[in-house]
Amino acid sequence: MTWAELREAVLARGFKTRFWGSYSGLHANVGGGMSMNAISHGQGCAGDAAISFDIITGTGELLRTGSALSDKSVPFSRHYGPDLTGLFTGDCGVMGVKARITLPLVKARPAFATASFSFPSFEALHGAFRAVGIEDICEENFGLNEVLQQGQLGKADTAAKVEMAGKIVKQSGMLKGAAKLAKMAFAGEKEIAAASHAGHFIVEGIDQAEANGRIALVKRLCGEFGTEIPNSVPEVVRAMPFAPFHNVLGPKGERWLPCHAQLAHDRAVPFHHALQALLAEEADCMARHGIVVGGMFMAVGSTASSMSRPSTGPMRRMPITSGSSIPIIWPACQPIPAQQRTRPRRCGSRAGSSI
Ligand SMILES: Cc1cc2nc3c(=O)[nH]c(=O)nc-3n(C[C@H](O)[C@H](O)[C@H](O)COP(=O)(O)OP(=O)(O)OC[C@H]3O[C@@H](n4cnc5c(N)ncnc54)[C@H](O)[C@@H]3O)c2cc1C
Repeated sequence: MTWAELREAVLARGFKTRFWGSYSGLHANVGGGMSMNAISHGQGCAGDAAISFDIITGTGELLRTGSALSDKSVPFSRHYGPDLTGLFTGDCGVMGVKARITLPLVKARPAFATASFSFPSFEALHGAFRAVGIEDICEENFGLNEVLQQGQLGKADTAAKVEMAGKIVKQSGMLKGAAKLAKMAFAGEKEIAAASHAGHFIVEGIDQAEANGRIALVKRLCGEFGTEIPNSVPEVVRAMPFAPFHNVLGPKGERWLPCHAQLAHDRAVPFHHALQALLAEEADCMARHGIVVGGMFMAVGSTASSMSRPSTGPMRRMPITSGSSIPIIWPACQPIPAQQRTRPRRCGSRAGSSI
């Protein structure tokens, strides 16, 4: 079952799961998310949200975790003796196959509010995310650097953007409200694209007054680090949380190569500086190979920073991209000839080094 299917099924009954999917949730499964300890939609990470697994072990036995371990009980609690559920989260599937996953439900909140901020530096962005994270009031948060913020949309002309928005909306089965969504997507475009680091926040509430109160606190905290900008990006994400996979290729057919790390909050800024130094060292080489590095940031709960630095360039494509609907969205996106492709592992004198 995909995260999108799970979300739809439980929302129809007025519920949600605390963590409810990765951005890839239109195709990514709950089992994959648990095994990769996915992050993004909802609170915390996938592993935090699991209460019990039915695991088929390597020897073909069935192992139940949590309270379900007792024959007389049902999977209502993760803690039944030692926590075995945690052992199987983020295991990439090597510890066994998750045949059944139990996630506790909570009431869905009908009201929401969003806000976006521009920050002058990574340090300012991180300061704001950390301050918001410790308040534990956000349903979602994500920060983008200028490469991702301007992104693929920034490279297309307006007619192409309108056409693309229409196609994305149609493919998502969201014909109702399509015009509204397209309008939202382009509101405040210039200010959004100008942000060197942008932070986007979504809060929920039992009613609009509660959602407004939470977003007011987000704005007050972020206002100490940056400047408010139009909130089109989180509005679009809220309207279409599981977007089709158009962004796995750039408009010129470039491939994205994601790379992620989770760190304690106080390690995020030193890590960022070390990584920037490495990228500066390799800048000439990356320019020669047409490689550009984006940046995505998230506060995961009150303790962790998620840093994602995807690179894009004329690299060999994965099979998933050739079979997808990307050519519909980017008609000019032809496969990159083999002689023009780059092989990032060979790029730079410090290939294979770590920081
Ligand atoms: C466009 C795009 C957006 C993305 N956005 C996010 C994001 O927001 N957050 C994020 O965390 N990641 C994101 N990802 C990465 C990826 O989608 C996630 O890691 C996702 O959780 C993988 O799920 P899957 O179902 O595709 O698993 P797969 O890729 O099929 O499998 C992943 C691993 O889990 C194992 N596995 C799968 N199912 C089971 C099972 N039932 N039992 C045991 N092991 C199993 C597999 O063996 C494999 O090792 C994104 C990827 C793309 C392409």
